[in-house]
Amino acid sequence: MISKPYPCQFNFSAGPAMLPKEVMEKAKDEFLNWNDTGMSVLEMSHRGKEYMSIFKKTEENLRELFNIPNNYKILFLQGGAITQNFMVPMNLIQGEDASYIVSGYWSKRTFNDAQVFGNINLAASSESDNYLTAPKYEDWNFSPTDKYIHFCLNETIHGVEYFEDPNIENVPIVVDMSSTILSRQVDVAKYGVIYAGAQKNIGPSGLTLVIVRDDLIGYSQKETPTTFNWKIQSENDSMINTPSTYSIYMAGLVFNWLLDMGGLDVIEKKNIQKSKMLYDFIDNSEFYYNEINKSNRSRMNVPFRMIKDELTMKFVEDAELAGLYQIKGHRLVGGLRASIYNAMPIEGVEALINFMMDFELKNK
Ligand SMILES: *Cc1c(COP(=O)(O)O)cnc(C)c1O
Repeated sequence: MISKPYPCQFNFSAGPAMLPKEVMEKAKDEFLNWNDTGMSVLEMSHRGKEYMSIFKKTEENLRELFNIPNNYKILFLQGGAITQNFMVPMNLIQGEDASYIVSGYWSKRTFNDAQVFGNINLAASSESDNYLTAPKYEDWNFSPTDKYIHFCLNETIHGVEYFEDPNIENVPIVVDMSSTILSRQVDVAKYGVIYAGAQKNIGPSGLTLVIVRDDLIGYSQKETPTTFNWKIQSENDSMINTPSTYSIYMAGLVFNWLLDMGGLDVIEKKNIQKSKMLYDFIDNSEFYYNEINKSNRSRMNVPFRMIKDELTMKFVEDAELAGLYQIKGHRLVGGLRASIYNAMPIEGVEALINFMMDFELKNK
């Protein structure tokens, strides 16, 4: 049993990440007895009328919140974002060509995972720039005969984000939005396929959201297992087998929370405010720094380092004593990282900045 003398005040984990307090309270209130049914959502048959009502409403609310046109199917799948590294080519490539953009760890892994499925072209990469920037849309070197182009909208580890939607009409775009989905409105119609693991900005782990344009469904290679097949999943309302029922319910509570606050334009303003506060503080400091190209700095994941890099572990330990958890950078890149998704209140960012000032004073 791990007991913590200094409990978590604010959780900066990259994922699974903190959830909105209001959502957690609602889930707690309904935990044993949902809507006077005498059942917990955890115990419900996914095909029963109680659960079906939750499921339908969740889908409708997401369509409204994210402004998803009617010619897109919404799938509630499992396997995480990584499983889409295989499902995307299995459902689209037909042994032919596709182009991939590499702008950080996740998109590179996606590019590597796709290799066995067809001719995988590296259309652009910022690896040689140490991922301090993301390759500009104009510089993507794809072919009009590609079955699709894949890229990652926000690189969670490197903290590199695209803030505009690409404007490419002749080739469908497949995008990994795991760590930025619902942080702002995007133009869904600019994409062929959008996917995201839930555990950053949507809800608990165990759920993967896939939003696919109708006309891209039905091209899977013949060996594709049923649970991996977008067409079969979409014809069966994502229930060719048991879906991740409780995670979907929790995601539904998060969608309601966002709709109640006024939708994605409202949360976007908050996200801009929170990330600006933190980046401004870092930029004005001679103790902390962030080297990412300013136009690509992620609003969700803010990596930073100290000039005195050797103090990193001390920073992490002291932060935990101050109730600020999970501030360590990813093991691949080291340093520090604050993930400030939708659920992170502005008070959390203020507490982090106050702690950073204090740490600097004590250790400079
Ligand atoms: C977390 C993450 C993944 C991996 O997601 P899993 O759900 O663990 O498979 C992939 N891409 C991005 C951008 C991520 O942030």
